Amino acid sequence: MNKPAPKPWIMDIAPYIPGRSTTDDGRTVAKLSSNENPLGTSPAARAAFAAAAGKLERYPDASATELRDAIAAANGLDAARIIYGNGSDEVLHLAAGAFAGPGDEVIHVRYGFAVYEIATRRVGATPVIAPDRDYATDVDAVLACVTDATRIVYIANPNNPTGTYAARDEIARLHAGLPPHVLLVLDHAYAEYIDGAAADGGMELAERASNVLVTRTFSKLYGLAAERIGWGYGAPELIEAMHRIRLPFSITIAGQNAAIAALADTDFVTHTRDHNARWRAWFADEIAKLGNAGLRAVPSQANFVLVVFEGAVTAEVAYKGLMDAGYIVRWLPGQGLAQGLRITIGTEEETRGVIAALRGIVGA
Ligand SMILES: *Cc1c(COP(=O)(O)O)cnc(C)c1O
Repeated sequence: MNKPAPKPWIMDIAPYIPGRSTTDDGRTVAKLSSNENPLGTSPAARAAFAAAAGKLERYPDASATELRDAIAAANGLDAARIIYGNGSDEVLHLAAGAFAGPGDEVIHVRYGFAVYEIATRRVGATPVIAPDRDYATDVDAVLACVTDATRIVYIANPNNPTGTYAARDEIARLHAGLPPHVLLVLDHAYAEYIDGAAADGGMELAERASNVLVTRTFSKLYGLAAERIGWGYGAPELIEAMHRIRLPFSITIAGQNAAIAALADTDFVTHTRDHNARWRAWFADEIAKLGNAGLRAVPSQANFVLVVFEGAVTAEVAYKGLMDAGYIVRWLPGQGLAQGLRITIGTEEETRGVIAALRGIVGA
């Protein structure tokens, strides 16, 4: 060997592809490709962020005590069981880093969040893919994948990129069917968008079970994607193991301040949630009207909708047509979803505009 050799499992990783913000010809258009908050960020969070500019020479609090206390108070949780990360992506990686390695298997669903496979391969473990049931998580299929080598099951609920939601009893059944040594990671990046904010029971499981980790983020509903603030909640032993490998200062002071302020701005949270519920329902109704053209909206509980194209107009054609019309959405052929487009619920204007453009594309 005449040069450093990356581990073979690292070279098996297909790099993460982020949502685009410009068109093929470089125009900046409406970005409906990354599930960001179309209403922006809470003004209070913005002000708290700006206030941190006066003190840049100090490291952040490595324990993020104030932030963890604020999260605990807002959610009725125990601050000692909260771990933070540079986005919940870091927490998802910490779970794999602490609980899986070469020879181990890690399960995620087909059409699951792309980070799970990267986190799995990064530690030399083997991804195992459970088949879906019409794009939704199939608990029986997941349980059928469990072997003696299984160490982690990653489930996003609601799931990305499908928007589907597994109800409380399904999650309970999944947990009950797992051997106690298997870590169940419930990724709640979109939990705040669930209708009526019904819970899937994951947080209660994380409270009482020794093998459940729930992850949350400030990137979506709270409009702080730029600041990279996520967190996880689980049994003290889980959190303690992950602490050993986390980066000590992975979120900035400005970000921590902004997140604390964002939690307190319940008006902005409610406004965002109401906006999303209203326009997600409207969007799904409009897609239903294009059923003759083979379009179908997969039922979503998130801030985006997966539109499946089963008629003459393909998802690829619609993707390009929408880009020409000024809307970037997410087409995911690399994830086996060449037949669908994941479209973020935008502002009213963007949502109406993307539907008008789709009608034009399919000739409705
Ligand atoms: C967006 C997203 C995340 C989180 O991202 P961070 O910005 O790293 O917190 C996690 N899981 C899913 C399923 C997501 O869609």
